[in-house]
Amino acid sequence: MFAFLRRAVTALLDALLPSPITLALAETPWQPDTVHAYCPRCGSSAGFGAVKADGCSRCVGQRFPWARVTRLGAWEEPLQAFVGAMKYRQHWAWAPWFGTHLAEALRLDAPAAPVVVCVPMHWRRRLERGYNQADLMAEALAKTRQWPLAHPLKRARHDPKQMSLSRNQRLLHARGAFALRKNAARQIGGRHVILVDDVLTTGATLRQCARLLRRAGAASVHVAVVAAADRRK
Ligand SMILES: [Zn+2]
Repeated sequence: MFAFLRRAVTALLDALLPSPITLALAETPWQPDTVHAYCPRCGSSAGFGAVKADGCSRCVGQRFPWARVTRLGAWEEPLQAFVGAMKYRQHWAWAPWFGTHLAEALRLDAPAAPVVVCVPMHWRRRLERGYNQADLMAEALAKTRQWPLAHPLKRARHDPKQMSLSRNQRLLHARGAFALRKNAARQIGGRHVILVDDVLTTGATLRQCARLLRRAGAASVHVAVVAAADRRK
């Protein structure tokens, strides 16, 4: 109820005042990355010509459960501030805005006839926040490109906020944090899946979700995120 009220108040303020997005962009102009700015395997920033067929220097020799990563930018300012506002300051309007940008970014490298899936949020977190930003991004992305949405994944348990966890704790927590819905195979079997989330940091969450999608019969998984952190070498 409080989440609903907070969202209603934010929506009302947005209608009366210049949107937080307009204000933020006026202060810090920002452009999405081109596909040459990062490694399509691990999402790390990479200079022109630094990515070979088997990846960049940060991920060469490593295996990923996804075929490709599309990102809008590096996990640094101003995207950290924009994503923070989207997740923690009730500025949910960033989510469809990012979703539309992802739809544009995917014009260059999306698989044929994909289905769009978001990383699910536990209902308790959703109740607290009033929305799942990944869900809103996925909706806008799917609508812009007229691709179908599917919901084959669910949260198996309510986890502590990941930001308070170390890298190893995150990897451990992601295991078993998600599960497939009963009709997952019917929803995505044989289809190319675009998996949407806000940030790719350790990759623990997206790895776990991508593995489950492949287990349910997805032909391939293509990760689409607002921002990706550089992998440690
Ligand atoms: Zn790489």
